[in-house]
Amino acid sequence: MSFTMRFCGAAGTVTGSCYWLTTPTASFLVDCGMFQGNKTLQALNYEPFPFEAAQIDFVLQTHAHIDHSGMLPKLYASGFRGPVHMTSGTRDLLSFMLADSAFIQEMETEQLNRRNARRGRPEVTPAYTRSDAAECLRLFRAVDYERWVEAAPGIRFRLWNAGHILGSASIELEISQDGQDKPLRLLFSGDIGPDHKLFHPDPEASSDFDYVICESTYGGRARTRRNEEERREILAHEVRTALQAGGNLLIPSFAVERTQELLADLTLLEQSGAIDHAPVFLDSPLAIRATEVFERHAHELEHLSRQPHLIDNPNIRFTETVDESKAINRIRGGAIILAASGMCDAGRIRHHLRQHLWRPDSTVLLVGYQAPGTLGSLLSNGASEVTIQGDPIKVRARIREIDVYSGHADHGELVDWIGDRMPIRRLILTHGDPEASAALRDAVVATGFPVDHVTQPQIDDVIDLETGALEPGDRKKIRRVEPDAIIRPDWHNDAAQLLLDIREEIDRAADDRARKVVIRRLRRVLEER
Ligand SMILES: [Zn+2]
Repeated sequence: MSFTMRFCGAAGTVTGSCYWLTTPTASFLVDCGMFQGNKTLQALNYEPFPFEAAQIDFVLQTHAHIDHSGMLPKLYASGFRGPVHMTSGTRDLLSFMLADSAFIQEMETEQLNRRNARRGRPEVTPAYTRSDAAECLRLFRAVDYERWVEAAPGIRFRLWNAGHILGSASIELEISQDGQDKPLRLLFSGDIGPDHKLFHPDPEASSDFDYVICESTYGGRARTRRNEEERREILAHEVRTALQAGGNLLIPSFAVERTQELLADLTLLEQSGAIDHAPVFLDSPLAIRATEVFERHAHELEHLSRQPHLIDNPNIRFTETVDESKAINRIRGGAIILAASGMCDAGRIRHHLRQHLWRPDSTVLLVGYQAPGTLGSLLSNGASEVTIQGDPIKVRARIREIDVYSGHADHGELVDWIGDRMPIRRLILTHGDPEASAALRDAVVATGFPVDHVTQPQIDDVIDLETGALEPGDRKKIRRVEPDAIIRPDWHNDAAQLLLDIREEIDRAADDRARKVVIRRLRRVLEER
């Protein structure tokens, strides 16, 4: 009888979290996330699942972030009808986040199809639709923290606060084994929050596991510990200098959690006089819905009960419609604009970037992790020109970055969290770039943990849960994408950069005659093939 776990995502990368477990009595998933990042990775969202959706008995959901939950509607559309277990916070967030994700995909495929039609390419269909997103909500089951729930005969689970975002959980799992009096014990970390985070108590869980599957996003990276006042002062400094520059301050922000943290801090800063009055626009229907959920769950959240209300705040303008959003473009300076997505790869932030990136008096403040290959990471790496919806845009705005709002535990906090779970028979490090996972492995090994008990799987590897042996996905011929292709900028990024460089070379030429020479030389290279 098979007793295995396949790493269908978030192995060697941070997105697409999805573990597929098969036991003698059930077949189920932990998370069903969307791939984000370069186009090679995103293409996986359009391929069939590596399992039969209709054969999956249930799903255990760690939290609402799209890279952990974004393929649930496709799972439904592919025939899955079992329950999806999660906290009530996660359920409330997903009730609008999945619809938004579907909307973005429908819109982007529509734009892509218009371009494809002009170029004579075939039509593409979205990974799923808004109706799939609405339908799959029926399968969601809310579960309390720290209470055992039987998911299938011989399989029970319990959720622990992961301190990452509203509703986030680590999942403790027990699977009874034939002929053994002890069940197999597993713990999925989900994404783990930092200590002393706004809104949430520190992450926790129990100990003594056969397998701990732990995220390693910030392996090898230590953050300077900041208290609340220091964090707010760093933000205040950025706001003051941005507004002094005369233009608007653009903050690409994750709609859930990050936006609410920023709103809470901006409100407090203005009330205390640390920053001048400036209109704050929350230009993201998704973030507005999320803020409403935060208000509804305020009683469970630290700080929010004594913080000013986020919704009934006259200084924050919530722009719902596209017209309201476009009206913001008429404001030339002095406004703070928050819009999703945080990595600038989707959402309204893109039209604001189009309007602001070329203005030297504008400021773009990056406040979160930027995955390799995203527009946010290009800006963070100092790109002088970027492409937005096919148009080249010069980057003249001030690009600033702060890292005081991380939703993730840093290196030391991950090592501590793992230490608190000991004894652990086998530690599996996922959800991180290869260097990050390796740094975390080395640190855990330095505490005395045996190195041959640590596994760093790659995408589509399968582990035998009885023996702990890992079978590489390429040996089984089930690997969908080369591990190398998902961490670096892929050929799409390279091609876009090449076109920008050619354009710049032609623009830079002294006169039309020189331009013709450049074009002729480039043409000759093409004809050499
Ligand atoms: Zn997350």
